[in-house]
Amino acid sequence: MKFGGTSMGSAERIKVAARLAAEQQAKRPVAVVVSAMSKVTDLLLDTMRHAEAGDRTGMESNLTLLRQRHEDTCRELLPAGEQGAVVAQLHDVVDEFERIVNGMAMLGERPPRSVDEAVAVGERLSVVLLSEYLRSTGVPSVGVNARDVVVTDAAFGNASPLMDPTGVKARQVLAPHLEQGTVPVITGFNGATADGRPTTLGRGGSDFSASILAAALDAAELWIWTDVDGIMSADPRLVPDAQVLDEITYAEAAELAYNGAKVLHPRTLAPLVEKKIPVWSKNSFAPQKPGTKIVPAMAVPQGARAVASMRNVALVSLEAASAEINGVQIMARALDAIARADVEVLVVSSSSYRQNFCVLLREDELDRSVHALESALALELAHNYMHPIEVDRNVGLLAAVGEGMQGKPGLAGRIFTAISRAQVNIIAIAQGSSELTIAVVVRRDGLEKAVKAVHAECGLGNRPPVPVFPFGESEGRAPQRAKSHE
Ligand code: ASP
Ligand code: MG
Repeated sequence: MKFGGTSMGSAERIKVAARLAAEQQAKRPVAVVVSAMSKVTDLLLDTMRHAEAGDRTGMESNLTLLRQRHEDTCRELLPAGEQGAVVAQLHDVVDEFERIVNGMAMLGERPPRSVDEAVAVGERLSVVLLSEYLRSTGVPSVGVNARDVVVTDAAFGNASPLMDPTGVKARQVLAPHLEQGTVPVITGFNGATADGRPTTLGRGGSDFSASILAAALDAAELWIWTDVDGIMSADPRLVPDAQVLDEITYAEAAELAYNGAKVLHPRTLAPLVEKKIPVWSKNSFAPQKPGTKIVPAMAVPQGARAVASMRNVALVSLEAASAEINGVQIMARALDAIARADVEVLVVSSSSYRQNFCVLLREDELDRSVHALESALALELAHNYMHPIEVDRNVGLLAAVGEGMQGKPGLAGRIFTAISRAQVNIIAIAQGSSELTIAVVVRRDGLEKAVKAVHAECGLGNRPPVPVFPFGESEGRAPQRAKSHE
């Protein structure tokens, strides 16, 4: 089981998390992965920024907040007699953080390794709270720092797991507890290289931690507890009749995550594919609701399942200005430059005749990307072999996702027609040959209308589908999870 930041966000929530874990623990072994309490990771990162800037006052006030929040939660959770020792444990962890940020303040910099060590403190504090609370309620539990279990490469801030050594460690460190009926409560988000240097798996990485550990332990199931009912057919803030999906495939859930559904960390499902471990996405605020089951494959693929969307994106266009320039080579070099800048490309689309191509990127990675592109293509730009790089921030991304879209003629046409009926102009289009996703870039102010229109056209809401599909099939139930606050 994994509990996200809001599911760990207060003493009251931690009590619920403990109850949910204990209920299952009574039936079969449970290992628990936790996020930092909501907003704590941001607070830690902010503290490090203050440190780097030499702003002691900012640092101190953040440290006070950090101590206070965890101490208060502890006092609310535990009986008076047990509080002292646990508060001391919490303070030890914060002291460790303080030593690292003091070092940063002295150096005036934030070395990535130290950042990774320091930022995992949020999860370590959560572990103390949940495992101590479980123990105080009579459930045997032990806190585990994932540094001792999850082995990763050395990409600080965005590390990838090495599954074989992680499996070995999971069997050594976690299996004995599980066999004895003790619930290990493990930090999400972090790991360490084989030689012990601390790493983290990227923001929101606790889901990924949980799936890594589920795979390493050969878990029967993974339950991801958050603050929304499951994966939904669209963002309910944009589409009021969006519905929770009861079942969805790994591939669909991954596509939705990559295209902006704040459901799961996009890398979560990869470790589970080989062992076909099913995942439940459930709401700890409404645990009686079934949630969404994410499965390796579905017997009867249904058409489009969900419409994901993203607002904070930008379209970068490149165009050769001379026939002497090979557009494919430009594309290759541009993509290489973007990849080196560690930026994720959301959509690529090209027209070979005008040697024009465009990539859709996240807005917060835009400056870095444009810089990388300008230096990689400096010569061509300087000598006017290429038009200046164009950036359009007034765009949004919409992606219709569903394994059942494969080989279904007419679907793309219906999607585009629905968007144009809503009077929204389509700027760029991409569909990979897997036909799992049709991605459409539109003007940002038309995004909401376009998402609503496609959602309705695909019959994903609770209104009956518009009967325009020539083959008369129903598209099945609606699909993506609500925006989680984790
Ligand atoms: N606490 C980390 C973050 O906020 C990891 C997570 O919550 O999944 O990014
Ligand atoms: Mg989180």
